[in-house]
Amino acid sequence: MTKTAAPDKPTTVLAWLRAVGPSGSPKDMEEARAAALHEALMLQLHFPEGRVPESLDDLARIVDLEIRLVSDLPVPGIAFLRGGRWHLHISAALTLAAQLRRALHELKHVIDHPRRVNTLSAGISPAEYEELADLFADLVLNTTIKGRDP
Ligand SMILES: [Zn+2]
Repeated sequence: MTKTAAPDKPTTVLAWLRAVGPSGSPKDMEEARAAALHEALMLQLHFPEGRVPESLDDLARIVDLEIRLVSDLPVPGIAFLRGGRWHLHISAALTLAAQLRRALHELKHVIDHPRRVNTLSAGISPAEYEELADLFADLVLNTTIKGRDP
């Protein structure tokens, strides 16, 4: 399998996040966890003053995705592609903190999407992708970039 170099610099936050990690499927969980940490730090660089957004609307603006609260969602959250654009639906039944965490979890699935569809021989199982999505959300919410504290 050959890697194709991206011809242009990423122009969206999502493209930047995807550019941080491996372009194909990570070879193992160690590589995947390292990528999740780098992606979390990259996302934090896009937060105003390094602060985690306080609302889903703020997060949606930063990552330029559609994020909607849905009151009768049978799952905590879901990410889907419609009209060439990613949409996140998050359950309104969750607390605000849980909504943000879930939106970040779903965002990680969006980041990982090309890695999952581009490879048949994935070194990462679907359950491990769930673990990575939780890890990414926790890292974004709990990891402070050194020197960014006031
Ligand atoms: Zn998930």
